[in-house]
This record gives sequence, C-alpha cells and structure tokens, in this order.
Amino acid sequence: MIAAPNTKQISIPYLLKIGNGKIARIGKYLYDKEMMKIAVFMGKNTANLIEPRFSETLNRYKIEIAEQKSVESIDLDAIAHSAFALPSGLDAIVGIGGGKALDAAKYTAFLLQKPYICAPTILSNDGFCSPGSSLLVQGKRVSARSKMPFGIVIDLDIIKVSPANYLYSGVGDMVSKITALLDWKEAFNRGYEHFSDFASMLAYNSLDLLFLKHSYDIYATEFQRSLASSLTTSGIAMEVAGSSRPASGSEHLISHALDSVSAKPKLHGVQVAIASYLCALLQNNPNTHLLREILEKIGFWEFAASDPIAKKEFIAALGLAPSIKRDYYTILSEKDSFERALVLIENDETLKRVIVDG
Ligand SMILES: [Zn+2]
Repeated sequence: MIAAPNTKQISIPYLLKIGNGKIARIGKYLYDKEMMKIAVFMGKNTANLIEPRFSETLNRYKIEIAEQKSVESIDLDAIAHSAFALPSGLDAIVGIGGGKALDAAKYTAFLLQKPYICAPTILSNDGFCSPGSSLLVQGKRVSARSKMPFGIVIDLDIIKVSPANYLYSGVGDMVSKITALLDWKEAFNRGYEHFSDFASMLAYNSLDLLFLKHSYDIYATEFQRSLASSLTTSGIAMEVAGSSRPASGSEHLISHALDSVSAKPKLHGVQVAIASYLCALLQNNPNTHLLREILEKIGFWEFAASDPIAKKEFIAALGLAPSIKRDYYTILSEKDSFERALVLIENDETLKRVIVDG
C-alpha cells in the first residue's frame, strides 16, 4: 500500500473572478493586491480580444507593464531562459490567452516564485487552474510540476465569442472525470495509489455543477459560467489529491497517445471525451449512460462526427496508451481491455459515428 502524504500544503487561488466585463477590471484587482509592476504573457491574437479595455484598466490604476510578451513557444529551456531575463522587482506574472500563453506564464511565475494571475480566453481544458504546466522538453510534451495560480479572472464576454470547438473540448475534459475517478478508485483498491475522498468529492461536485443546474445550451452564459467554475474546481481537486488522478485516467492516456500517433490530433478535450466514453464501457461504469446522454444533448457527438478520428490512428493509440505512464493502473492495464475495445469500436453505435475508417 502506498502511504498517503501527511504533511502537505494545499494552495488554492485567492482571487477568483468569473463574470461579464472582468478584463476591464483587472487593473483594480491588481491594485487591490498591491501588484503594481507586472509582466504580461499573451497569446498571439489575444490583444485583439482584450484591447483597449486591458490597457485602459491598467493605466487607470497606474499598473506598470515592465515586460509584455507574445508567447509562441512552450519549450522549457526557452521559457527558463527568458524568465530570468525579465526585469527585477515584478509583483506578479499575468497570463492571458489560450493554452500556450498560460502554460508559459505559469511556469515563469513558478521559476521566479512570483504570484501568477491567469485570465483564460477559452475554456478548452482544466489546465489553467491546475498545479502543472504542459511544456516541451526536447520536443516532447511533458507535464511539469509548477504552481496554482494566485488569481483567476475569466471574462464571460470573451468566452461567449470563443469558437464552439473550444467549448466542446472544455465539456469533454470535464466529463472525463467520470472515468478518471473510477480508474483512480480501482487503482487505490489494488493498493497502487492513495486516495483522497475530498478531492474525489470536489471532482464529482464539479460535474454536478455543470449538468444538474440548467439547460444544455453551451452558448448560454450560465452554462459557460458553470463550465468555468467546474474546470476551476477540477484543477483544485488535482491540487488537493497531490496528483492529476481526479482529472485524468485511462481516457487521458488514450488522448496523449493520439497526440503522438495522429497526423492531425483533435483538441485535447474532444479526444478525451471520445476515449472516456469507450473507457466507461470497458469499466462497466455506472455513469456510462449519463456520459453518452450529456454529450448527445449538448451536440458533442454531432460535432465530433463532423471531423471524426481515423480508426487506424485510434487503434494505434489504444495499443500505446497503457505504456504512456509507468506504474499507472487504469482499466487499460487489464489484459482483455484492448480486445474488448476493438469490438466496441466496431459495434457501438456512438463510437461508430466518431471513429471511422480512412
Ligand atoms: Zn484534461
């Protein structure tokens, strides 16, 4: 049995703002925390989304941007190199944008031991609030331990205009908790992992929050508000657990494998959701039906069917997935899972829509 950690600090975001018009108030949030000198990391096209509101709010509160970067690379060496070349006396690192800008900003803040404020402009996965950064090390994607954000600012006016595929990906990353949590529990039952009931509860609650409260219209502001909160809570569940277990199981292994075998990988959450449904079937997961129904109601299957995954690639990923993480029990560790999955891919009506020949 693996011993549970008994001396551990858990950090959660101190500042959390989710709502309309939040970017236009970021100057005030920084000012209130006496963060008067900052470095800003942005995505390539982020300025178009947030200006002039962002500059105006910073000017109003006399916040100094000591450095502003447009992030194109998430290469660890490049990030480390530029982190230590930043001006001294920074009060915070601010990341605004999609995946890359936030990963680079978060890791920079971790290296410099500065508070990190993140403002995601899309909600395509739960990475923005997680304690890790997805980076490239010698060309390979790795998840490097970094730090939880000090602050999270999500402007729903910006999320509202984000493309639908990002929202589908965000929901996909959320529903994957259904399989991740069961993989984790089974790994614990076999003595391979410690288990945190509190982290598990947070992850389940984040799912409930998203789907029990209201309609399944992904364009509705209230749905997007819940998606933002759910993804945030999922990140916190990982921090509480001290691992990515509450948010990542067999379905994430398949998605990671797809990233390496596919000619053109789909968005993370899209791959994860499809893999999660397959893994739920393999697990005989009691929530399999729920998972399929939720994704049907929000239009996910139709969306995924419009750009399906090639069967060849999916099967190659399935073969590779169990070896992606060493000593990591999931349903894919079971000897008959591969054969059972092949049968499901050929026969399950939903899987046949999204995993096709060619
Ligand atoms: Zn994920």
